[in-house]
Amino acid sequence: MGTRYWIMNHSDRTDGPADKGLDESSPKRVIIVDDDPAALKLETRLLEDSGWEVKSFCEPEVAREAISREIPDVVLLDLMMPGVDGMAFLSELRNIPALNRTRMIVVTAKSFAADVDKAFENGADGYVIKPFTPEKMLKELEGADDFEVTFWGIRGTLPRPGNLSIKYGGNTSCVSVRLSKERLFIFDAGSGIKELSDHIMATRKGKFKANLMISHPHWDHINAFPFFVPLYIPGNEISLYGPSQGAAHSLRKIMADQMDGTYFPVTLNEFSAKVSYDDLVQGSCVIDGVKVRTMLLSHPGNCLGYRIDHGGRCFCYITDNELFPEDSQYYSEDFRQRLINFISGADILVHDTTYFDEEYPKKVLWGHSCVGLVAKLAHDADVKRWYLFHHDPDHSDADVERKCFEAHKILRSLGSDTKCFIAREKSTVTP
Ligand SMILES: [Zn+2]
Ligand SMILES: [Zn+2]
Repeated sequence: MGTRYWIMNHSDRTDGPADKGLDESSPKRVIIVDDDPAALKLETRLLEDSGWEVKSFCEPEVAREAISREIPDVVLLDLMMPGVDGMAFLSELRNIPALNRTRMIVVTAKSFAADVDKAFENGADGYVIKPFTPEKMLKELEGADDFEVTFWGIRGTLPRPGNLSIKYGGNTSCVSVRLSKERLFIFDAGSGIKELSDHIMATRKGKFKANLMISHPHWDHINAFPFFVPLYIPGNEISLYGPSQGAAHSLRKIMADQMDGTYFPVTLNEFSAKVSYDDLVQGSCVIDGVKVRTMLLSHPGNCLGYRIDHGGRCFCYITDNELFPEDSQYYSEDFRQRLINFISGADILVHDTTYFDEEYPKKVLWGHSCVGLVAKLAHDADVKRWYLFHHDPDHSDADVERKCFEAHKILRSLGSDTKCFIAREKSTVTP
């Protein structure tokens, strides 16, 4: 997979103000930077006609000052300008904390995959290749609206169909994130992926492409992988990503082992789609043109949390993850701080809330969190919306609601702006 770039210690862009407090009804503001006056004129007219408030600059130096002062919603940036390294300029803008919520869209004639990846690596949120159609440009600018998170399985450990889970669903972990209509990221292949598979088979026309991000290979996160029907259809492309479990257990081997004829009758060889397997480590990369960050979580074995930034919005998937109380011998301030930075400012955080606080002392080192500690974490990380996820298999819908009530109480006592919700199967939310 030649086009992935791993960046360790990537500079964080999450320390800026979370919200610019713009009035929803005020026109959105864009600053265009391009040394070509004809391009500037064309883009300005197109965007003004579509209701944007536009400022344009030929000189990057002047533009830099205006962008820092005005904090626009979007910057359209040409990469090839005389006397300026466009990528360095992009990176410099990206690292200004006040521009945390500003979308940086590169507009350039550079069309090689390596250039696209490099732009995302330097903090771009979108990439438009010249010459472009007005539809393409406007779609990219409005791209932030195309961000859908759908829950297909929300239980932990074990599928729990039946009376206790009628309201929120009894399937284990699976969440899909659809970006710009065309890019699909699927998080985990617990029994919920069967519901997603049925949905895709009922609605999809033509070739199907998706990225399947595995947090870790505990059963409840991979057990329905063989039931994901798009894997068996020629022409489809499914790219799997996830952590290996040591040198002898690559992601591919792990998935193959649970389908080796002993544990499951159908093997990987039966897949007719083009299926790839990439081992991920903690870091940052670009997948399908989207910036993806990973962090090793507090869980037995290698378990990765994921963060996706797209169109100025952010989705974080953090399960399974054990937060320890401060007085625990296992507590690590360093880990907590790194996790706060990782999920900082998330529009949507999905976090394992397996236990009530009073249950947790009997479950230490099982790799899961109690609701109170996640509430404090979400508040400290300035998360906007947090979804309770991955519940103890003995918890009923009423228990899950009681956990959410506990979470509300804690957030209220902290004077927090973070809102908490219960993830419900087959419901879609947008950041
Ligand atoms: Zn689990
Ligand atoms: Zn687990």
